[in-house]
Amino acid sequence: MARNPSHDILFEPIKIGPVTARNRFYQVPHCNGMGYRDPSALAEMRGVKAEGGWAVVCTEQVELHYSSEITPFIELRLWDDRDIPALARMADRIHDHGALAGIELAYNGMNGPNLYSREVPMGPAPLPVATFTYDPVQARRMDKTDIANVRRWHLDAVRRAKQAGFDLIYVYAAHALGFLHHFLSRRYNDRTDEYGGSLENRVRLLREVTEDTKNAVGDICAVPIRISVDELLGDGGLYKEEVEDMIGLMADLPDLWDVTIAGWENDSQTSRFAEEGFSEPFICGIKRLTNKPVVGVGRYTSVDRMASLVRKGVLDLIGAARPSIADPFLPKKLEEGRIDDIRECIGCNICVSGDFTQSPIRCTQNPTMGEEWRKGWHPERIRPKTTDKPVLVVGAGPAGLEAAQALGKRGYDVMLSEAGTGLGGRVVLESKLPGLSAWIRVKDYRELQLRQLPNVEIFFDSRLIADHVMEFGVPRVVIATGATWRRDGVGHAHLQPIPIDSATEVLSATDILNGRLPAGRRVLVWDDDHYYMGGVIAELLAEKGFETVYATPASEASTWTRNTMEQHFIQKRMLEKGVEIRSFRLLNRVDPNEAILGCVFTGREESLNVDAVVLVTARLPNDELIIELQARQAEWADSGIESVTVIGDALAPATIAHATYAGHRFAEELDNPPHDGASLPFRREITALYPLS
Ligand code: ADP
Ligand code: SF4
Repeated sequence: MARNPSHDILFEPIKIGPVTARNRFYQVPHCNGMGYRDPSALAEMRGVKAEGGWAVVCTEQVELHYSSEITPFIELRLWDDRDIPALARMADRIHDHGALAGIELAYNGMNGPNLYSREVPMGPAPLPVATFTYDPVQARRMDKTDIANVRRWHLDAVRRAKQAGFDLIYVYAAHALGFLHHFLSRRYNDRTDEYGGSLENRVRLLREVTEDTKNAVGDICAVPIRISVDELLGDGGLYKEEVEDMIGLMADLPDLWDVTIAGWENDSQTSRFAEEGFSEPFICGIKRLTNKPVVGVGRYTSVDRMASLVRKGVLDLIGAARPSIADPFLPKKLEEGRIDDIRECIGCNICVSGDFTQSPIRCTQNPTMGEEWRKGWHPERIRPKTTDKPVLVVGAGPAGLEAAQALGKRGYDVMLSEAGTGLGGRVVLESKLPGLSAWIRVKDYRELQLRQLPNVEIFFDSRLIADHVMEFGVPRVVIATGATWRRDGVGHAHLQPIPIDSATEVLSATDILNGRLPAGRRVLVWDDDHYYMGGVIAELLAEKGFETVYATPASEASTWTRNTMEQHFIQKRMLEKGVEIRSFRLLNRVDPNEAILGCVFTGREESLNVDAVVLVTARLPNDELIIELQARQAEWADSGIESVTVIGDALAPATIAHATYAGHRFAEELDNPPHDGASLPFRREITALYPLS
């Protein structure tokens, strides 16, 4: 397929200081929960991005000195020369595929509580460290010696980064995540010396560090500055006009401007709260301040929009973290005119949760993300089949769809049997909830892939029972029949059903997903699931005019969404829509037109006058078919069945990301021993022991 000529502009090389990017696709720094613990996995992941056509592939933030580290988060480290080989491995993997390697050096300053090193954090002012967990530690004010030291440490790290082979060495002053940002900001910088006060003074340290870096790299590496154009705090924080003046003061000093908004939760908003290109108003106009190239992000996946941004001179390079995670081969596919093959990011921030939970990055759309090295998975290539035995996949939700398409790509004959009239399972229903429409891409991508696979046959309106499966007589059976939300109150808090009087209408989340609404007006949503479902159902009900009370045993609505950086946005929206939020409440029982809530601390009960209760607690696997088949295991051989495997929510309900992963894993491992064939189903890197003296 030929590429649309109007997209050619995205494939023009561009000079960034002394180096040249082969096209306009730029993987900006992004965290991944692997960092110093999993360097080989990280190197391979970045290498795959380079293979996928990105012109520049960057690290996450890299701690440049032990006196500022960000434990418990797991990022890369460049504390001393012993860290160079891990970084060099990554740069090498990126170079293997013709991309430029970028490194984001960070000195977190007042963001690093230094839980590991136990050094005293430093910043422009003596303020509490700014962490998500309100760590009980303050930073001390940096004096001139401290400033000189940090400049020296930054330079040491620059030399190491150069030695490791990086082509772009960042000066990081963005996201309120490091000392340079803190010096820029009046919120943190109350200094009266030459580093505080006027704009020129607050910019001084950034200028000095950039000059140091440029002098150190000579004409070998490019030096980008990453800066946040706005903190979305009005006059209280950095705002666009102020930062534009700062950029004006240093216009052509760096080799590239990488512009973002702060904090990270604003820069990486989910699709529930921000459209593609949401940061455009902040990025617009930066280019007129500088002759140097500008890169910016906006969760861009629309190629026309990307081409138009470059054509209109808003950006020179399209920055991407999440679109490059969901589809590491996005540039290659665009180059080859294969737009329909792009696995579009759904904007759910499950990838971000890896960083927040210190676990390797995962992605809802791209189940191979984070598994490139440890499982040998690749987003575009999969080992061909080694037998001719066909596979029956039952259920076309995210697990079944991913299994079917990946098995199809391996060359197996696949029969995909779906009870309903369409593909997608839970994502079809959930994408109709407020703000979640982009989630349908989980189905869309897989549907388009399946259409290109003549060896996959799809049967709709085919709710299978054990007799059908026996009749099919297909050797391998995969059951991906999903799960159903419970209506008995069992969840995290109650492990036994709660007393429910049938005089009060009780709905499950499945009822709501199927379009049912309460009959009365006063509704309690009790959320003991804690991810998005309870909050989004409360939002939906409030939108539809119900008097909605949302109660949870947790301290806040949808508390797990802290890991996707959405909690604040969710609670704000619920409050704005008129939902009354009651936290620290257990639902003890449902009486006639009354919900009895109990305080999680004191047990004190209160009664809430309600017409209906919506329970969002746990789910039960749809396991009828499995149970039936297991009961008839003795007949399998006669029917030609060799194995029956349950995957996804039908095995154990979890996230959509888990379902696509489970589907992919089944497809990868069928007739294939797990990677390395060793004792674990994945490779792991083990810290080398310090030699005994
Ligand atoms: P997962 O997240 O594990 O993929 P979903 O609930 O999204 O699970 O999808 C399960 C799919 O399986 C739904 O589309 C449902 O209609 C279908 N399904 C459930 N039971 C059967 C069955 N017995 N035969 C065929 N399809 C089924
Ligand atoms: Fe996009 Fe979600 Fe994948 Fe992150 S996890 S890259 S937000 S699809």
